[in-house]
Amino acid sequence: MKKGPENQASFGNVPQPVREDGAGGIDLGPRDVLRDLENPDMLVPPASDAGSIPNLKFSFSDTHMQLKHGGWSREVTVRQLPIATALAGVNMYLTPGGVRELHWHKQAEWAYVILGSARITAVDQHGRNFIADVGAGDLWYFPAGIPHSIQGLGEGCEFLLVFDDGSFTEYDTFTITDWFAHTAKDVLAANFGVPESVFAHIPAKQRYIFQGKVPGPVETQKVPDPYGTVPKTFTHRLLAQEPIVTPGGSVRIVDSTNFPASATIAAALVEVEPGGMREMHWHPNSDEWQYYLTGTARMTVFAANGTARTFNYRAGDVGYIPRAYGHYIQNIGDQSLWFFEIFKSNRYADVSLNQWMALTPEELVRAHLHVGPELINALRKEKWPVVKFAVNGRNENGKSCHPYVRRPANLLFPKGAEGKVQENGKR
Ligand code: MN
Ligand code: MN
Repeated sequence: MKKGPENQASFGNVPQPVREDGAGGIDLGPRDVLRDLENPDMLVPPASDAGSIPNLKFSFSDTHMQLKHGGWSREVTVRQLPIATALAGVNMYLTPGGVRELHWHKQAEWAYVILGSARITAVDQHGRNFIADVGAGDLWYFPAGIPHSIQGLGEGCEFLLVFDDGSFTEYDTFTITDWFAHTAKDVLAANFGVPESVFAHIPAKQRYIFQGKVPGPVETQKVPDPYGTVPKTFTHRLLAQEPIVTPGGSVRIVDSTNFPASATIAAALVEVEPGGMREMHWHPNSDEWQYYLTGTARMTVFAANGTARTFNYRAGDVGYIPRAYGHYIQNIGDQSLWFFEIFKSNRYADVSLNQWMALTPEELVRAHLHVGPELINALRKEKWPVVKFAVNGRNENGKSCHPYVRRPANLLFPKGAEGKVQENGKR
């Protein structure tokens, strides 16, 4: 048999688990080369990685897709990513007119509109209603237990839903059709004061998502409410918010201080330019649930006790970081990396390693790390969430820091292609 497994090594662009220092060896066995290409820093982790840290990554591409007439949905919860106990997420699309039916759940719901537009409705426990149209870059927040609905408008709508409990599942929400289907008709008749015959055609089971008609303008659907509308709006225009801009990228922070309804979820929408890095930091108050919107990233998490582990992420991936674990995120691609850091908290909070050191007595810092004035003088008292770690694929020492260049080129591109590897790692 000519097509033996050893032939894999001769395919173009096949990455190999061999580090620059020679550690490792060629992998000739059964393997998923596409996966390995997506995870260069898991296949060849930095030598500073050590010990055992639980899995901190799950891709929406590896989840079950629930397909309905009217849209689709998929989820990453504690079932897919067992360490993610604090938060869970759902990625959903509704067609134009597609309805995520009237429902409620035990958890609060925070959402980011990825593309298109939708109309959302809700009524709170005091009988105050809410209706609004949302578009790309907007958020909504529904407090725990408050009934609501979502409907796709003209172009349909894709969004990310985040819940303040890792055990949430979209299969366990309270839907209006489910309750009707499981209530005796005489009880329904008594409850609403109408004859039982009114309920002759109600759905026999939950609809969850169904195809409806695109509604008219929001003004035409507003229901006059004797109790008024909800006092704190359930929507927030996040992309319209002025970002914190630093060399290397930008950050938009949203929590209950600028989006008062969002009492249990805080978030940061981070943009990291090519060659930029979300600086070394940690969060004192909450686990972090991440969602990657664009680009490719490498994140290393430090979990104390001599342990650190590196993961790769790309659009559609979920990342997770337990509270207080140190971490940083590098953009390793040639387009901007956009991702969300989402927290179960009413306030966003992070601690910057750089700022901490800058605001600590110099002598004390130097005594710990055996470093000279070069580092001490470079420390910043102002927090820069995103920093530049590379200029054109090289750091300030001129040393290549592109992940593809610091690997043996002859192993990465086995057909003697190393001559084609340019400084920026592209062929
Ligand atoms: Mn919901
Ligand atoms: Mn973080």
